[in-house]
Amino acid sequence: MKTKNIQNQIDITLIKVAEWYKWLHANPALSGMEFKTSEFVIKTLHSFGITDITQHATTGLHAVVDTGRVGKHIAFRAELDALPIDEKTAVDFKSRNSGVMHACGHDFHMAALLGVASVVAENRELLKGKISFVFQPSEEKLPGGAKQMLADGLFQNHKPDLIIAQHVFPDLQAGMVGFREGSYMASGDEIDVIVRGTGGHGALPHLCNDVVLTLAHTLVALQQVRSRFVNQNEAFVLSFGKMEANGANNILPQEAKMEGTMRTLSEEWRAKSKDQIRSIVQNTAKMFGCEGITDIREGYPVLKNHPEYTKKVKALAEQLFGAERVVDLPIRMTTDDFSYFAQQFPAVYYRVGVGHKKESDNYGLHTSQFLPDISALETAIKFPLEILLKLG
Ligand SMILES: [Zn+2]
Ligand SMILES: [Zn+2]
Repeated sequence: MKTKNIQNQIDITLIKVAEWYKWLHANPALSGMEFKTSEFVIKTLHSFGITDITQHATTGLHAVVDTGRVGKHIAFRAELDALPIDEKTAVDFKSRNSGVMHACGHDFHMAALLGVASVVAENRELLKGKISFVFQPSEEKLPGGAKQMLADGLFQNHKPDLIIAQHVFPDLQAGMVGFREGSYMASGDEIDVIVRGTGGHGALPHLCNDVVLTLAHTLVALQQVRSRFVNQNEAFVLSFGKMEANGANNILPQEAKMEGTMRTLSEEWRAKSKDQIRSIVQNTAKMFGCEGITDIREGYPVLKNHPEYTKKVKALAEQLFGAERVVDLPIRMTTDDFSYFAQQFPAVYYRVGVGHKKESDNYGLHTSQFLPDISALETAIKFPLEILLKLG
């Protein structure tokens, strides 16, 4: 009876949710600039009669529905921000802000969460406990909106018993969901290496020191962090994608620089590797008479899913959708600042398949042609509601 009522509500809501998705897709905003997006979310929540909304970290929102009945406090997170990408799709709801695109599916997450909120608002009497809807800014940009919202008082008075995030995944077909217990996504730190020396005439290297050659040696030496220092059972990536040395054919410059990223799945190896990197940079430079400097910008921590809750939530998915629509996910070396929530509260971050049946329609996240199969919105509304009904 309960479920039937809610299923009717979902069917009605789905039409509106698709419209919200299209509006959000057409009006993307960069990290920290989500003013219109935030306004749209507030206006939509108000239209369901949800008015207990507080703002954190400027554009971030925390909406609460208190059923007034004893139960858990379950929170859901959706992200507000888009990416600096020029959209190359042909849809009529294509981005109206040139150079900005919802290429990570955050528009899909927001629309689905608004759909969940609208069904919750209509069915308070069928639910228990407290339900939080967190609309978070700036997931795509350090230091991350999750951290900023927490620092700005989010959950200070309402600690959640469980926080959930769902993220689109084009690798899985629409209708599928994926889970992984424990460490799922990587920590990500930005690493700059700078080598300084005297510089001089390219024809007279014996009179100076060569920062370009030194940096080249440093790049190669740093590969030893993965191959010789980190335990081979650990997932670890160290990549440098930018090098700069502005000399000339016959000029050895005074400075050379490279920029990279380090990804790990263990906070222990993350800390140890940073020390090892600093030591290699400093000592390689010394070998060539130069100075080696390492500048590390702390990124997001490792994202750890609560093992017990992940098991429970996955079992619910198997009951609701059938085991054939539920998969175990491999680890993934990308990052998500949802990890800050997962450090403080039991958390489950799972994947919602948005892959199209036609393989050639599928493009990766963060690409200019990414578009989800929006039939997956039904899964993304149904499943959070099931979690509330069964675990609330
Ligand atoms: Zn992203
Ligand atoms: Zn994302």
